[in-house]
Amino acid sequence: MENTEIYTENNEIEMERNLAGEGMLHIVSKTVWFSAAHILNYEEKCGRLHGHNYKAHIQVSGNLIVGGMVINFDEISNLVKELDHHLILAKNQVKSMDEDTVTFEVIKPNKKVKKYTVPREDVIILNKVAITAELLSEYLVYQCMNLLKDRYGHYISEPFKHYAVEISLEETPSSVATFAGSEVI
Ligand SMILES: [Zn+2]
Repeated sequence: MENTEIYTENNEIEMERNLAGEGMLHIVSKTVWFSAAHILNYEEKCGRLHGHNYKAHIQVSGNLIVGGMVINFDEISNLVKELDHHLILAKNQVKSMDEDTVTFEVIKPNKKVKKYTVPREDVIILNKVAITAELLSEYLVYQCMNLLKDRYGHYISEPFKHYAVEISLEETPSSVATFAGSEVI
């Protein structure tokens, strides 16, 4: 059980510190790398199982929350850890799953279907229609926003609850997808 008295006191201190000026925001960003495999439906080249060294540039804008930070840089880094060195599958690719294995199918450009069975522990399944850079950056923005809500949302109040997250995800150095959004945490 948290000590609400202490939180109230801290909250007031944080409020004073947050009053940087109307319309002013702090912006922090961090670049993180992760390696992952994926495979896309209806694609020739990307329809073969392969991987990328993804580079994610993550930017968070908002007010100062704890200890004079917008968000702890280590917590930003942790966002990609669950994806690192995994095969990322879209939910609709997965046909069956048990404790040890995942069986998934990929549709070729000629509509023929390829079937794979891989160890369960190697796989991360996302509720996305495809594991493209666009949808991966979208996934990471929501993960970051959820992190802000879970960790900090309960003890900051209006008008300091507005945060924006922007993530540019490089699949290759010349192929970048960006997704951004703002929410009240
Ligand atoms: Zn790819």
